[in-house]
Amino acid sequence: MEQTFKTDATYIVDLGILNSHNEKGCEACHRKFNLGDQAVMACGSWPDDCAKLIHKSEAVFDKKTGTYFEKNYFQSIK
Ligand SMILES: [Zn+2]
Repeated sequence: MEQTFKTDATYIVDLGILNSHNEKGCEACHRKFNLGDQAVMACGSWPDDCAKLIHKSEAVFDKKTGTYFEKNYFQSIK
């Protein structure tokens, strides 16, 4: 069963996340995730789907909407 991710939580990358996401890796920097990395489900400029799993360091938390955004995208919509 696919894990459901929320856009306001931090996830520690575990084997389940590696299995489900490391084919593509991080959508922001295109590097692979490593076990123990902090990751968030962030909104960005991705065409197919609002939220993607990216490294937490590449995201900002928007308090107004309670949602993580990919940094560059967040700058562009401000
Ligand atoms: Zn990344």
